[in-house]
Formats: sequence, C-alpha cells, structure tokens
Amino acid sequence: MLCTHLGGVGIFEAFILWARIELHLKLGYVKKTGENQLRETQMHIDPIENHRQREEGVLVYPVYSRRSQGLSMGINLFPDKKHCSFDCPYCEVFPFEQDISFSLESMEKQLHGQLFAAKQQGMEVKDICFSGNGEPSLAGDFFEALDAAARIRDEVAPHAALVLITNGTGLLHDHTFQGLRRAASGPKALHIWLKLDAGTEAWYTLMARSPVPFERLVQAIKQLTACAPVTIQTMLCRVQGKPPPPEEVVAWERLVVELAEIGAEAPCSTGERTPGIQDIQLYGKARPAPKDPWATALAPAYLEERAASLNAVLESSPLLRTKRAIPIRVFP
Ligand code: SF4
Repeated sequence: MLCTHLGGVGIFEAFILWARIELHLKLGYVKKTGENQLRETQMHIDPIENHRQREEGVLVYPVYSRRSQGLSMGINLFPDKKHCSFDCPYCEVFPFEQDISFSLESMEKQLHGQLFAAKQQGMEVKDICFSGNGEPSLAGDFFEALDAAARIRDEVAPHAALVLITNGTGLLHDHTFQGLRRAASGPKALHIWLKLDAGTEAWYTLMARSPVPFERLVQAIKQLTACAPVTIQTMLCRVQGKPPPPEEVVAWERLVVELAEIGAEAPCSTGERTPGIQDIQLYGKARPAPKDPWATALAPAYLEERAASLNAVLESSPLLRTKRAIPIRVFP
C-alpha cells in the first residue's frame, strides 16, 4: 500500500542525488524480457516525488524514506494496476494499467539483486517494506512473498526490518489475521504499520471511502493490538477544505488510548515480541494525488499540536503511566 511508504527527501536530498549517480554509473540499467514480460529493475533510488517506478511495473524499488530514516526497499505486489479496499482522497497512486502480472520468482530475483547491490555499495538498508500500488494483504501471493522476503532479508540484509504498510482490512479475514499475527510475533519480526485515519464513522467515511464497515475494522484492529506489536499511522489532512472536526479529534484520541491500553493490559501473544502499540506516526499530505484538491495539507504546527494533545491523553491514562512511553513521530 502506497499510502505511507512515503518519505520525501528532506535532509537526504543531497545524498539521494549522489546515490542515484553512483548507482546508475556502477550498476547501469538492466532490461530483460522474461516469460511474463516482467522487467528487471535497476538500482534507482527514488526520492518519492512520484511513484514512477511502481507504475512502470517494477516489483522492488529502493527509496529514501523519512519514516524508515534511511534506505527502504519497497515491494510492489500490484504491477498491473491499483488494487485497494480503500479509496483515500489523498492516495498517491495515479491511474495506470499494464499487462504485467506479479511473479514471485521475479520479485525474489529483484529483491536479492537490490539488497546485494546496496550491500556492495556499503549502504545500509533500513527496511524491506510491502507497500506498492494498493493494499498488499489483498494479493493472492502475499504470504508467499512475505516468506521469500524474510528469507532473502536473513541471507543478505539481516539487520533490515520487514515492514507491512496496511489499511487493516485484511484483518477481517481469519487467515490473514492469523498469518499477520504470527509474522509479527515470531522470528520474521514483521513490523505492521497500520492505518488509523479516523476515530468516528463520519471521518472514516470521508477518509477511506470504503464499503468496509468502520466498526468491524476497529474491532479487528483491537484484536490485533492485543496479540501483536503494531505501529499506528494516521494521515492528518483537510478533506474538501475542512480539517478533522473536534469530535473526530476526541474520538480518535480515545481510540488510540484504548488500543494502547489493550496492548498493555491484556496481551494474548505467546510470541517473541511484546504486543500493543509500539509507536505512532502522524503524517501530512506532502505529495500530489490524482484526486487533488479533494484532500489538502494542514500546517505542520497543526500536526505537532495533535501529537502533543495525544501525548497528554496517553500520559493521563493510569494504566499507561506505568509503562514505557509510546513514541509519537510527526511527518508533516
Ligand atoms: S487508497 Fe488509501 S489505503 Fe489504498 S493504497 Fe491508496 S492511500 Fe493506501
């Protein structure tokens, strides 16, 4: 899912330019036509001004990500077109359609090649991130791809985290829920970055524009939080010119506190990692989207205020006060 495999350039800008030149020079472009006409990707680090590489059908794309705080290897399971259970107004996937189908074999080859190239360059890969043109857990090959990525990570870049960016709708299916719970709690140490854009049905309707019922989704998220470690990701933006209304802000804060308390109080995990909310990412609309100007950016100060307000509410919880503070990071 593209939504939050976003980074922008910021302090990495100069380094990106250097890296692009270096890697293009040293690795060159490799273009092959295989059985399914998938193209091998070149080592091309994208500063995410757009998602050109993904929309050209690549399966593995290196990017600099603020949220990963370095080089992130994105995995795109949808080279043909966008597949998503949400229709967020800020979504950055522009309409495209290609006669390319996903191939596990090609993904493995591309991932291995990109990780190996980064290693040869002495570049640290912070994470391998399932994102791409839609909701990764909708892909039929998702768990096979996850297994393959974990295996290749262990072989070539053992310090890289394995990340899934998800809108959470896959959690409504038991097979996906259990698979993600196991992957996050066990040796794969999958980091689940879970979208939680709303605390009220009204704001959810505007932000997700999805037939998936809000209450069912919230229930599934609560269940996962009790069993597995998760990162909460929330997009803060105006929709049709309006910021989140006060009742939405209060409801979202209550929901986040409730999720944090569920993780702290009643863990059901028997895995190796502590369940519950590990950290919270608040991010703003920073790049163009096909539905512009449906969603527009809020001032960075607004995001900081929301972070401070949430932090105060978390700290006021008697249950959470005795626990490790949950980091809140802001990406305007
Ligand atoms: S529609 Fe929303 S959830 Fe789906 S890919 Fe776009 S931003 Fe992510």
